[in-house]
Amino acid sequence: MSPVLAGIAGVLVGLALYALTCLSMPFVMCRKCAGAGKVQSRSGRVSRPCKRCKESGRRLRLGRKVINYLRDNRDRADRATR
Ligand SMILES: [Zn+2]
Repeated sequence: MSPVLAGIAGVLVGLALYALTCLSMPFVMCRKCAGAGKVQSRSGRVSRPCKRCKESGRRLRLGRKVINYLRDNRDRADRATR
């Protein structure tokens, strides 16, 4: 197998594994608040709700957002052709 083919195969295997991860574990810990759902203000006295994860402490993986977008798009197309 040539190195180029091996590289392409490696990328495809990596993408397939990432897609499986996105399907089985769609959420990851929010990096902004480290899963707490609240962030400290700059002074460090007050904690505010995390805007990025809306206080859930979790966020959707980028790959899962893509999957959800494609799924919604397909559903919309199905409804339009009915
Ligand atoms: Zn957060």
